[in-house]
Amino acid sequence: MAGRSVGAKVIDGKAVAADVRAEVARGVEEFAAAEGRAPGLATVLVGDDPASHVYVGSKRRLTEEVGMRSIHHGLDADVQPRVLLDLVGELARDDAVDGILVQLPLPPGHDQDEVIRSIPPGKDVDGLTAASAGLLAQGRPGLVPCTPRGVMELLRVAGVEPSGADAVIVGRSILVGRPLAALLTNANATVTVCHSRTRDLAEVTRRADVLVAAVGSPGLITAEMVSPGATVIDVGTNRTDGGLVGDVDFAGVCEVAGAITPVPGGVGPMTIAMLLSNTLAAARVRAAGANGRASTAAA
Ligand code: NAP
Repeated sequence: MAGRSVGAKVIDGKAVAADVRAEVARGVEEFAAAEGRAPGLATVLVGDDPASHVYVGSKRRLTEEVGMRSIHHGLDADVQPRVLLDLVGELARDDAVDGILVQLPLPPGHDQDEVIRSIPPGKDVDGLTAASAGLLAQGRPGLVPCTPRGVMELLRVAGVEPSGADAVIVGRSILVGRPLAALLTNANATVTVCHSRTRDLAEVTRRADVLVAAVGSPGLITAEMVSPGATVIDVGTNRTDGGLVGDVDFAGVCEVAGAITPVPGGVGPMTIAMLLSNTLAAARVRAAGANGRASTAAA
């Protein structure tokens, strides 16, 4: 167990994300010099959901900022599912495309699982295909979902050693909770995953040296649920009348935790940074394959 602290250290996700993007930009420069082209990230946005437009807009802007090529396709909400699948198929075959990101959720009428399945694992920069999830579960190299990768990077930069730590994750989605459980297990933490059926959530969360909230419920994690000195990572992103808030009662938990991520400015900026990092990794693996060089890692 970590020791008692007064006032948690706030982990600055914006600064860490900027460092990751700067590192990616250096890698992109090297890649372009060696391969004669920049890595390419294709984004596909179906419909006109305002939040999705904002997310994709940020992804495209930051893709170009690190020197990669952004290839965007916007489709109408009522597009035939076949048209979307054909587009993903084309992007899968396009040599200029290293990563394919289909912004989720898709409008009703589309089979999200079928669309994800149609992304080849080598271009699965969101890490959402069953192939990527399988590699991660087996502790093998592959493309890892961006938000959990971002959480691991924040822990690393904050100097939190997962090995031997009790890690509790609240939330078991394919996007966050499950892949993070695999990453923390691979990093030798002792991992407990909680969800909506967990009995006495507070009793479990109080055991955590590292507590991650990924639920989508404002203020779910209160000070009484946190062990003194624990590191608390708030993945929650909830739009409320009072603005964007996480799943953690920030003010209260700050009094107990050793370190904490804010919302906004914590995990959020890391997600796009890791998407760019995944795209560069995917480009390197594809280039190594095309050049007949052995390659093992995509992360
Ligand atoms: P999700 O698919 O809705 O999953 C939510 C999880 O929380 C489920 O496993 C659910 O349990 C569990 N849960 C719900 N109520 C609970 C309760 N009272 N106690 C314990 N567990 C409970 O959500 P998600 O996609 O993982 O996203 C979670 C949050 O993270 C959202 O706020 C989302 O906006 C945010 N997010 C942020 C980023 C970022 O970049 N910052 C990225 C992704 C997601 P069951 O499985 O039993 O239903």
